[in-house]
Amino acid sequence: MWSSVSQGQLGTMLRCRAAGCTENHAKRYCRVCRTKDSDHRAMNCPTLTAKYTSGRCVGYHQTSPDRGQQITQSGVMQPSASGAAGCGIYFAIRPNETQRKAHNHGCMVTAEISLRRPKHVWRGKVPNVTYESLAAEGYDGVIVHGFRSGVEVVVYKSEQVRVLSVQDM
Ligand SMILES: [Zn+2]
Ligand SMILES: [Zn+2]
Repeated sequence: MWSSVSQGQLGTMLRCRAAGCTENHAKRYCRVCRTKDSDHRAMNCPTLTAKYTSGRCVGYHQTSPDRGQQITQSGVMQPSASGAAGCGIYFAIRPNETQRKAHNHGCMVTAEISLRRPKHVWRGKVPNVTYESLAAEGYDGVIVHGFRSGVEVVVYKSEQVRVLSVQDM
């Protein structure tokens, strides 16, 4: 007969609903779709997959009004000098997530990102990424996981970004 001993007393790992998750917890919070008891890992999040497989991945980037004006005039976003995944162009997938991510504030850039095959990486464990190194692996951009403020979508060429709007906030 089974005794009524709880999982915890048996020392068994707690298991969430996400396939392939090896963490010791009963529930998994998905930082992408914000589901409290999610059945997927963030890299498999349907919300995220839908964004880039639709061929129209819209991202948000907050910057200073001065930079915003430059982007308005040139119509081009340039890769940053640094970032969590190297010299890229960084986006959040929701406007309000840019508040914590941005180094400069006051102007919101909305852009369409050309990204079909992202490489999923984890914050703090990102190798030195360039467009060429990604292309050699068959990827065209990076999605960085592990930020409380949500994922970061990163592409490495200005041509991968089409500026939709630049608005002072
Ligand atoms: Zn889990
Ligand atoms: Zn999710």
